[in-house]
Amino acid sequence: MRTLIKDLDFLFTVDKNDTVLRQASILIEDDRIADLGPADEVAGRVDENNVDKVVDGRMLGMCPGFVDSHVHLSETLSRAVFPDNLTTRAWVFHWAKPFYAHITEEDEFWGASLGITEMLRCGTTCFLDMGSQYDPGIVIKAMEPTGIRGITGRHAADNRPSELPRGWTEEMADHHFFPDAQTALAELEACVEKYNGALDGRARCWVNIEGKEPCSLELHVGAVALAEKLGVGTTYHLATSIEEAKVCENKYGVWPITRIDQAGGIRKNLVIAHGSAVTDEEVALLADRGAAVAFCPCSSLKLGKGASAIGKYPEMVQAGVKLGLGTDGVSAAGNMNLMRQMLIVAGLFKDARVQPDIFTARDALRAATIEGARALMWDDEIGSLEIGKKADFILFDLDHVEWTPFHDPLQALVFSASTASITQTWVNGKPAYADGKVIGVDETEIRRKARELAAEAVKRAGLHEEGVEVTTTLYDEGN
Ligand SMILES: [Zn+2]
Repeated sequence: MRTLIKDLDFLFTVDKNDTVLRQASILIEDDRIADLGPADEVAGRVDENNVDKVVDGRMLGMCPGFVDSHVHLSETLSRAVFPDNLTTRAWVFHWAKPFYAHITEEDEFWGASLGITEMLRCGTTCFLDMGSQYDPGIVIKAMEPTGIRGITGRHAADNRPSELPRGWTEEMADHHFFPDAQTALAELEACVEKYNGALDGRARCWVNIEGKEPCSLELHVGAVALAEKLGVGTTYHLATSIEEAKVCENKYGVWPITRIDQAGGIRKNLVIAHGSAVTDEEVALLADRGAAVAFCPCSSLKLGKGASAIGKYPEMVQAGVKLGLGTDGVSAAGNMNLMRQMLIVAGLFKDARVQPDIFTARDALRAATIEGARALMWDDEIGSLEIGKKADFILFDLDHVEWTPFHDPLQALVFSASTASITQTWVNGKPAYADGKVIGVDETEIRRKARELAAEAVKRAGLHEEGVEVTTTLYDEGN
């Protein structure tokens, strides 16, 4: 199948020079970009009579598909359940964990299906998902009919708190926590062997663990080493809040990234989710080790993680750390919309540091696309629009008030446009979202099922009741 989209108003390549083409054409052959360039040049190389379909690209703009570098697909039923005035640790231990302890395999499947529809509608074509509490096959089954690309895993932990949070039972804790690091790693290895490369390569499976207090030091280091042995990546939460850093300092004398690094757990196949509480020395350390960081702006704003007050994200980029953007779960961020993350990150640091050139729209677009692809170790195929790469892209309708008028497409994309002007999202050379619908699934049924299952899960977890803890002392001592 050969499709020629010609005379696009603009095309962001996000190549190494951040080339923006005006009056551009692109030839898609099966799942890849066969040609691309100024429309007159492509017209000289490609015979229109020799392609299967010609699309008129006038009044359309093209951008690489967004890469969500940190998401929890199986937690999508938790939208707007937890309050927004909690510290990260209280939020995780007393709200999120009890909720997820009551999530069934069926909940995970419908939650993942719902999350994928939101992502495709918002232009996300690839993601790094923390994974299932049961089996990565649940997320892969949800991915299958939609055509989306992504990485998932088996969300693992091995360090039980000395007391169980409200809403937990022993049985649930036994399911949530592996008895030790070796047992967890054996299960994660089996998952990678079973699922990595599924869906004709659209799905990958990594050695994912929850990270921070619910995981032992041995599991952090073991996950990175196992991933290296298997030729895949790993991701875990670390340095997610100042409270976590202070608890770590009290217990071990150092902040979280230094602690894990001293044991050999910070390497180039690692994506650290959040990385909010990081010292200047740790920024240099991350660059030296080649590790990546997934910054989740909406999650930071909702939970008050301090990205603008203590975050070192611009410094990470300057030091050469791969910095992607993530949405986190919908409970933490409220949405799975990478365009919102892009807007926030393009303004947050300028404003916080009173320095308009510190992290620009150009940096934000790179973080949402090619830098995310580098973090996910998939930049050989995705993250930019270049000949030979996979045809994963977004089309914007420029006859839309958000794009009327505009001069510089980059300024309009980041500061003016929203997902409302996305008309199509393509993955692997095929439309996955077009004509107002996610192709391959019944979105009305997904939303109906999600409403029904979410209401039941909230009740089972007791989160509709009064008196759920809003502070925490879990993991403060011992362990
Ligand atoms: Zn997360």
